[in-house]
Amino acid sequence: MQPIIISVFPALGEPGDSLSLQGKLDEKNYTVGFDTYEILDGITYDVTLYNSGHAIILSGTVTASVRGECSRCLEPADFEIESQAEGYYLFDESAAEEQGLEEDEFEIVTSDETIDISNAIMVALTIETPLVLFCKKNCKGLCPRCGVDLNYESCSCDKEVVDPTNPFAALAGMFPWPSEEPSAEDR
Ligand SMILES: [Zn+2]
Ligand SMILES: [Zn+2]
Repeated sequence: MQPIIISVFPALGEPGDSLSLQGKLDEKNYTVGFDTYEILDGITYDVTLYNSGHAIILSGTVTASVRGECSRCLEPADFEIESQAEGYYLFDESAAEEQGLEEDEFEIVTSDETIDISNAIMVALTIETPLVLFCKKNCKGLCPRCGVDLNYESCSCDKEVVDPTNPFAALAGMFPWPSEEPSAEDR
C-alpha cells in the first residue's frame, strides 16, 4: 500500500487541534496470511486526527468491497468491510515505555513532523477480513473425492460406496476410507 503522509503542521501543531480527512485509495488488492483479496472499488476512509499533547490520535472508519475465494468451492466470494480505524503516533518514542505500549500499538511522528496513516487503514481492513468465506449461504462445495463443484454437477462418489450391486461392495467394509476410523468389528 502507498504511504499516506500527513503533515502535523500547521493543522495539528497545537495540543487540542484536530483535522478530519476523507478520501478514497485506489488500491487493487491486499493480503492476509497466504490469501490475497481483491478490492473492487478502492478503500474509502473517513478519519479524525487529534493532537493530545503526547501524540496524534487517529480514529474513524474504513470501508471497502472485497472479493476473496469461497472456502468450499473456490469460486469468488464477495463481502463488504466497514471497520474502525485506530492509530497512535507518539511525538517522542521514549513515552511508549512510560505508557506501557507494545511495539504494535504505536507509531512515531517523524523528525520532519509527519505521520503515515496507511498502516492504520490497512490494519482496519485486515482485522475485519473473515477467515472463512462462503460464496453463498448454502454452498455445497467440491466433492472431496472427484473434485466436481456440487453446486452445478452431481457425482456418484457417495453412491458407489453404498450401492450393493457394485461388485466391489463386499469389500467396502474391509477397507475403510482413510478419513474414517475402523469400526469396532474390524479390530
Ligand atoms: Zn462456494
Ligand atoms: Zn465426486
